[in-house]
Amino acid sequence: NLESAQETSTPPAPASSPAPPPPADIPDFAPYVLIGAGTTSFAAAKAIREKDPTAKVLIIGNEDYTPYSRPPLSKQLWLYEDHEAAKNLKFTASWSGGKVVDVFYKADFCSPKDLPNLEGGGIAVVTGRKVTSLDTRKKKIRLDNGSEVSFNKCLLATGGTPKTLPVFQGKGPFSTFRAIPDYKALDKLLDSAKSILIVGGGFLGSELAVGLASRGKDKGVTISQVFPEVGNLGLVLPQDVSKWTTDKVREVGVQVHPGTGIKSASVSEDGKKVTVVTDNGTELVADHVVVAVGLQPNTDLATSARLEIDKEHGGFKVNSELLACTDVWAAGDVASFYDPYLGRRRVEHHDHANVSGRLAGYNMTGEHQPFMHQSMFWSDIGPDVGFEATGLIDSKLPTVGVWGRKSSEAVDTPVDDYSKGVIYYLDKEGGRIVGVLTWNIFGKMDVARQIISEEKTEVDISDIVQHFEIH
Ligand code: FAD
Ligand code: NAD
Ligand code: NAD
Repeated sequence: NLESAQETSTPPAPASSPAPPPPADIPDFAPYVLIGAGTTSFAAAKAIREKDPTAKVLIIGNEDYTPYSRPPLSKQLWLYEDHEAAKNLKFTASWSGGKVVDVFYKADFCSPKDLPNLEGGGIAVVTGRKVTSLDTRKKKIRLDNGSEVSFNKCLLATGGTPKTLPVFQGKGPFSTFRAIPDYKALDKLLDSAKSILIVGGGFLGSELAVGLASRGKDKGVTISQVFPEVGNLGLVLPQDVSKWTTDKVREVGVQVHPGTGIKSASVSEDGKKVTVVTDNGTELVADHVVVAVGLQPNTDLATSARLEIDKEHGGFKVNSELLACTDVWAAGDVASFYDPYLGRRRVEHHDHANVSGRLAGYNMTGEHQPFMHQSMFWSDIGPDVGFEATGLIDSKLPTVGVWGRKSSEAVDTPVDDYSKGVIYYLDKEGGRIVGVLTWNIFGKMDVARQIISEEKTEVDISDIVQHFEIH
């Protein structure tokens, strides 16, 4: 996990990497080539070196940084009181034991040029370079500067690109949010903007709305949020819980417009203001719009590689060992994998990037392990909402929720306080428990995984209360 990734650190990684190496410095062969320099590739690189201690691993990424963790970009960096430190991507979290950490993963990276000659092998990162084609037969990739690199084993860990909406394409004060430069630009904008509108009510839109409202409250910046669902995180939470969460987002100071679509958007003549017209005719005016409407998996390489794309879930289609074709694996956000318990799916979360990257790394060294581990994810939406979850978490599924009560309340009082509880998600056909979400209850994901693996169709309320210590 993030903690352990950040603690296996010798020496500290540079805050950013130098300019992309010139072509001559990029080796023409590496036994292991990992495409994309994100969490997935970093986890795979460490796993490869664990099983094959002299392995030579080349990571190629098109960002200007060595691999880093994205979750703090929408949470801790906005909440850490030491703003100067946060600007330098530093923060504290309770899971870091109060220590100041930064977003970068730490490893003893070597230079790409030295990699072929290092007897003990190593991990090298080429930054600022895009892989433009992959030949799975010749086992060769091509980079945007014309360099070619041959490999024995290759991992596709290209993640995704934020989607946008047609009304926000073209010129205007609009942006999406995924990476360090996006955090820096938005943080800077808080010094000049008076109003920021976030479009989208999912994980990113909801976390950012709260983060911006917290950081911007002393600066008098108005933060608004608009999305079609009944409440925040409406695609994953049951309706009542989603609406309750929206009340909490409002308490942090965000002006939330749930149940609202967007009809059009226009930019003022001086290019400094956007007017968004909603489907109920309301005009929302802002100095800037952040569009957070989901992720498009980066599968451009499928064409040159002749790999199959999953038409339903998106992403490269891989088997339960995360193999796309001989000697080419895919993991993380970009992989549509076969889950032996829950069927084919794709997961866009941090822990999945870690555990699937690690498994792909093991399998690249010659193991044949199926991907059986249920990853978890979490989110924090303001001071009163934090949750963890595993399995299929989708508001379209039937759910059973068990909520904590004050001892003075009669057991048949209708629930209207969703401060603490557990939600089970059931499959539509047989009522089997396929997902578990713990709300303001932490550290219970092993119990949740066990429940999913038992494939139970009976929900035993007293079991839930006892297992998850709800009261
Ligand atoms: P990515 O992190 O997207 O990395 C892929 C990398 O590959 C990128 O750097 C990309 O630029 C690069 N790339 C793509 N194509 C090419 C190419 N052709 N050549 C070279 N490089 C290429 N998840 C949680 O569980 N909890 C959270 O709290 C949480 N918070 C998040 C907050 C934010 C702001 C964001 C954006 C995401 C958050 N996530 C969270 C999701 C989590 O960060 C992702 O699931 C994770 O980053 C996926 O890792 P990845 O390595 O598969 O993909
Ligand atoms: P943290 O130390 O950053 O604390 C975040 C706290 O700030 C939470 O209690 C949250 O409710 C609160 N908060 C959020 N918005 C706020 C606001 N606007 N004003 C005031 N307070 C606000 O993080 P944490 O509590 O240690 O962990 C948060 C989540 O991270 C957990 O759900 C957990 O699952 C996850 N986690 C992740 C890892 C990892 O490997 N990445 C490790 C441990 C925990
Ligand atoms: P998401 O899939 O969580 O949410 C998409 C949102 O887009 C929906 O909630 C909906 O409100 C909105 N939307 C879709 N079409 C729309 C339209 N026409 N008009 C208005 N809104 C529309 O995606 P996201 O919130 O954009 O997050 C981006 C990526 O980052 C995802 O992969 C997500 O998993 C990841 N992320 C995860 C976490 C976490 O796990 N805690 C936090 C931040 C980001």
